[in-house]
Amino acid sequence: MITLKSPSEIEKLQESADLVSEVQNQMIALAEPGLPTIELDRLAEKVIRDAGAQPVFKGYRGFPFTVCISINEEVVHGFPSKRKLKEGDIVSMDVGARYQGYVGDCARTIAIGSVAPEEDSLIRQAYHALREACKVVQVGKRLGDVSHTVERIARQFNYGVVQDFVGHGVGREMHEDPQVPNFGRPGTGQRLKAGLVICIEPMFNLGTYEVEILEDRWTVVTKDRRKSVHVEDMVALLPDGPRVLSSADGAIYPDDVNENSNAVSSS
Ligand code: MG
Repeated sequence: MITLKSPSEIEKLQESADLVSEVQNQMIALAEPGLPTIELDRLAEKVIRDAGAQPVFKGYRGFPFTVCISINEEVVHGFPSKRKLKEGDIVSMDVGARYQGYVGDCARTIAIGSVAPEEDSLIRQAYHALREACKVVQVGKRLGDVSHTVERIARQFNYGVVQDFVGHGVGREMHEDPQVPNFGRPGTGQRLKAGLVICIEPMFNLGTYEVEILEDRWTVVTKDRRKSVHVEDMVALLPDGPRVLSSADGAIYPDDVNENSNAVSSS
């Protein structure tokens, strides 16, 4: 059941989104070659607890950390560890916090140093898809319109679109209804109403859409081990349109992509 949020609840969710955005900005600033990824987790937990909030991933179904760090072929739910970042890695950082009873949830992918052009494009198009999908969160549109927007951009580039993991409603709980897949048919699904707050989270792969889970029972990797990108924002539907609540630094990936450049014909 979808729980629509009141204006005052959306303000609370804005504060939670501000907190996880701040965490993201600090992690983005810290990430560099040679940094063990556990340091990103330590930083995130400190910022969250210092704000009087709680890490929401930690302990969620037994997940042991504050952030998910997913490098290269890892899609989502990777563990922070002693593994050091290195030039050419692409790193997804996903963080959630509960503040004043409401959950903020936001993911960013960044390149460490320079990466191959096709990987740079994968990252940029994932952010582009996220921004375009957020714009579709309008009264009268349907969930399938949002999902299709993400899928359409991925298909233009022949990226694999992960199907086994999806976005979600967010509020007092991290995962609320509705599920928000990264694929769908326009004009189908739930009609969007004011008060809806969802996390949209494109997961684009350079190769196959298929994924598998490693022996740690958490880390999701691409089946062909080609690289993957995951980005996530929280968006609220206000009576006059969408408001993206999370605001972590997207300036490193400005939305200057041309959907038609470098596009390969879809099969
Ligand atoms: Mg999420």
